[in-house]
This record gives sequence, C-alpha cells and structure tokens, in this order.
Amino acid sequence: MSFSQPITFATGGTTLDRAAHLRREAGALLASAEARLLVLAGGRPAIDLDGEGPRLLWRAPDPGVLAEAGEAPVFLGLIDGAPRFAADLPPSAAEGPDPRLPEGAKFIDLRSIAGQLTPGEASVAATAKGVLGWHESHPRCSRCGAPTVPDDGGWRRRCGGCGALHFPRTDPVVIMLVTDGERVLLGRQASWPSGLHSCLAGFMEPGETIEDAVRREVWEETRVRVGRVRYLACQPWPFPTSLMMGCTAEALSEEITLDPTELEDAFWLPRAELAAVLEGRHPRLGSPRVDAIARSLLAAWLAGEADPV
Ligand SMILES: [Zn+2]
Repeated sequence: MSFSQPITFATGGTTLDRAAHLRREAGALLASAEARLLVLAGGRPAIDLDGEGPRLLWRAPDPGVLAEAGEAPVFLGLIDGAPRFAADLPPSAAEGPDPRLPEGAKFIDLRSIAGQLTPGEASVAATAKGVLGWHESHPRCSRCGAPTVPDDGGWRRRCGGCGALHFPRTDPVVIMLVTDGERVLLGRQASWPSGLHSCLAGFMEPGETIEDAVRREVWEETRVRVGRVRYLACQPWPFPTSLMMGCTAEALSEEITLDPTELEDAFWLPRAELAAVLEGRHPRLGSPRVDAIARSLLAAWLAGEADPV
C-alpha cells in the first residue's frame, strides 16, 4: 500500500515556481511593480492574521525594510507569475505587534503556525526560512575567511577574497520506523518533553547510502540489527537545515542495549498500543508532534502502509 499520510512542509505541492533561470535578473525583478516581499524576523515569517485564516504577508518591497535587512533579498521564484522575494530582519524582541508590519500581522514562529497555513504556503515559508538562515550563518568564506556576498538571486554566496562559490546546505537525516513483526522500536532523548517517545533518527555521514545510515544509527543507539530498509517519504525541516528521510526498516534482532549518550530509553511498542499513543490517550506515552514526520511514519505503519517488505 502506498504512503498516504500528510507531512508538514512536504505534502500538498508547493505553489512556488523556483524559476532558477531568472535568478540572474533578480535585481530587475525586485524593481518591478509585480514584485512581492515576505519579511521574516529572526527566521519568523510575517503572518497576516486578519483574513479567514493565517496567511503569509506578501507586500510590495519596502526600501526601509530592505535597508534594515542589509543584504539583497532572496529571489524565491514566481507565484501566480509574480516575482517573490524574502528578507530576514534581526529578531524582534518578542512576538507581537511590530511597527514594521500592518495592523493584524505578526512575526510568528514557523513551527507554531505551519499547520494553519495552506500546505503550499508552509512549503514556501520553509524555503525562505531555510535559505535565509543559511545566509545569516555563512557570512565568511570557509576556505580563506574573507567576507562573502549573496549571488545568483541569493542561491549562492561568492567570496570577495578567493572567489569561491558557496551553496545553501541541506543536511540529510535518516529517521526510521524499525519494526519486528507487530512491534515498533521507539526511543527518547533525555532533553525531550516528559513521556515523549519517537522514532530513532540521526545524521547521515559522508560515503553512506540511506540504507547504511539507517542500519548504523539503529545499531549505535540500541544495538539492534537491521536488515531490509525501504524509503517511504521525506520532510524538509529548516530548523535549521535538515532533510528528514523517512524509512521503514526490518529488525533482525530484538535485544536492546542503550547508548546512554544518545538515548535515555528505548523499547518495543506493540502495534495494538500505537493508536492510543497517536490519539493522545496512552497512559504513559506522549505522541510525537503533529508536524513531525515521525508521527506520519507511525500513522502509516498503523494504517498498513509502512511494513518493510
Ligand atoms: Zn574565500
């Protein structure tokens, strides 16, 4: 059965045409009458709360806001044929009314609002947050240390010293639904909210396949051996730069030996108890957040969409 669970930032199709062939013309497009700008503050997008539901606040580029942002805005692409840009301002002191925004609009943390946006708008906001966060954290060249400047509409940075080009990073993470027949392997990190258990996950390393990374991470964290691995679905996760690659994996062993530096707890949960966890009525276990792909993977397994074979 194919995977049908919704995934925040991934499902529903983006409304954005990235129009990469227009990136070199970003300066002229920004000056056009049709241009619209999404402003963020410390990575929090401006949200219009005045309509029927929260929407991204798109406005004509304001010279004062552009000056405050410092660097040229990123050309995201086209929506409904109109050029769309994004710029990040320094973090505001607090979420709330901001003098730079019209009445009824606020800068709001993306995770707290994504579920109320249309899937297409959530995807655009994730794109803006991800690429702007990369700019903010890469002001200098990793080869020679000289300052870098945005280039190609904001989709790379060019070093003013050695000329090196640097591209926005995406860090691949594997997250896996490890099953042993009618049981699924869950774990928890000590820093998580009380009661929360979720799928195991970890960053991929250079030279690894997705399948290798799944087997290594599960072995490192629990000493459970994994056989077959099947990719299911992925989630852009711009907090700050991850791509969560969801897999289903077949356990070949069942004894768990924790790596205490990674996990505080791990255990096998029977499929019969999973519905109670996901519906928030399990006596001991909390459910992963609605916006987490772990929840989508678990829901898929419960629906018979994610067995490893
Ligand atoms: Zn350099």
